[in-house]
Amino acid sequence: MSLLTADSSQLLIGGELRPGGGGTFETVNPATEEVLGQAPDADSADLDAAIGAARTAFDDTDWSRDHAFRAHCLRQLRTALQADAEALREITIAEVGAPLMLTRGPQLEGPVDDLEYAAGLAESYAWETDLGTASPMGIKSSRVLRREAIGVVGAITPWNFPHQINFAKLGPALAAGNTVVLKPAPDTPWCATSVGAIIAEHTDIPPGVVNIITSSAHEIGSALTSDPRVDMISFTGSTATGRAVMTNAAATLKKTFLELGGKSAFVILDDADIAAAAGFAAFSVCVHAGQGCALTTRLLVPRAAYEQAIEAAAATMGGIRPGDPTKPGTICGPLISSAQRARVEHYLSLARAEGGRIVVGGGRPAGLDRGFFIEPTLIADLDNGATAAREEIFGPVLVVIPHDGDDDAIRIANDSPYGLSGSVWGTDPARIDHVTSRIRTGTLGVNGGIWYSADAPFGGYKQSGNGREMGVAGFEEYLETKLIATAG
Ligand code: NAD
Repeated sequence: MSLLTADSSQLLIGGELRPGGGGTFETVNPATEEVLGQAPDADSADLDAAIGAARTAFDDTDWSRDHAFRAHCLRQLRTALQADAEALREITIAEVGAPLMLTRGPQLEGPVDDLEYAAGLAESYAWETDLGTASPMGIKSSRVLRREAIGVVGAITPWNFPHQINFAKLGPALAAGNTVVLKPAPDTPWCATSVGAIIAEHTDIPPGVVNIITSSAHEIGSALTSDPRVDMISFTGSTATGRAVMTNAAATLKKTFLELGGKSAFVILDDADIAAAAGFAAFSVCVHAGQGCALTTRLLVPRAAYEQAIEAAAATMGGIRPGDPTKPGTICGPLISSAQRARVEHYLSLARAEGGRIVVGGGRPAGLDRGFFIEPTLIADLDNGATAAREEIFGPVLVVIPHDGDDDAIRIANDSPYGLSGSVWGTDPARIDHVTSRIRTGTLGVNGGIWYSADAPFGGYKQSGNGREMGVAGFEEYLETKLIATAG
């Protein structure tokens, strides 16, 4: 059965694929504006059943203690997803507007492949450490430190890289022995329900271990964050929503792991190849139409090379035509929705009103009358205090800002409520080290280095979140620590 049929878009609750109590809602192709089909709309009874099923699977089965079985299930899921890769690719391109070439990497195949890393951790992790004996208060005790699953994890995810983010939560959460209720974004329900169908029909993952709840309403996510049966919320999304998640979770003091927004800086030092670096920065902000939390959307260049950098960035951005994501050469597809395009356009008008110079782009591309496309846009003559330099736009928009040397570049890079990622370009290792050790972000690329990898922790400083996803650190987010002391 093709994963693209309406029948395969169902909720997954307690091991059963079933319709949503709230009926259905439309999922739309952002490149064509056509309705692709219907997704199940979960109501509060569905959420209640999903949390109940996850609770029972955690409390009443051996799932959390059977490390080898979990590794087997994760490998089985990976194999089944790989077998259906072409159907999943079609859904991902159609529903997310993700360019085809990205589905060979972080939009699909990369994160599916990375389930092996999670399976390997379930097998190889040191679940128990012998702390030896000690005699506190005169009682000789042998101590063992155990690491255990937290319990029921509520995973809430956005639409921009749905598989990457869903699997970066499901993989380590399951490998660590938790059960999960996944609530994906309303814009990309099929990316999640297709995975639910595969879990139900092609894996030994026990009923209730993974539950998938799609909903047109954000309230279902909100209810998940406040339910006392949920032990942890793993959230990726905007900083504003992350704040609401943390507030809601506070009543039951559940752990909140937050991956939030960014406004990362691309710092060019004066000994770098200015044109090459500026061209790279311009290209990277156009990938997936700029809908990436870690994209470097502020380009900080030496003041003496300001016009040279603008010229190089403009040449690159002017040469990138947004277009059909099904085409192999497309890197800049549509924005996810008309609402998101309106948001980007709002920021462009604010940039103009605040004195910004639109060097290239600034509007909707000619000749594309269907689809939520926006032109790659380069903005100059704003300082770091301007709205377009401070707030996350989530479109293919780059703001160029001059700096007066390495320390000034560090100051500007850090002058942001966010601290997610960044890039530094230069030739002198000592200067690069000076800058990378002072920029306060969770990841940094140097001269085009790529930090994204299954074994590399990713996450933010400041208001870009707390905790780390991926790597051993990302796995350990889903664990509790228990110390057992035995007398004698
Ligand atoms: P969003 O915050 O609007 O929504 C994210 C998810 O939260 C969705 O599933 C949504 O339904 C749900 N939600 C909304 N209100 C909620 C509430 N009150 N309680 C619980 N859940 C609620 O984000 P978005 O527009 O879907 O995605 C774009 C944002 O995600 C950007 O800000 C981007 O930077 C961020 N993002 C961050 C990372 C990261 O790893 N740091 C990765 C990708 C995207």
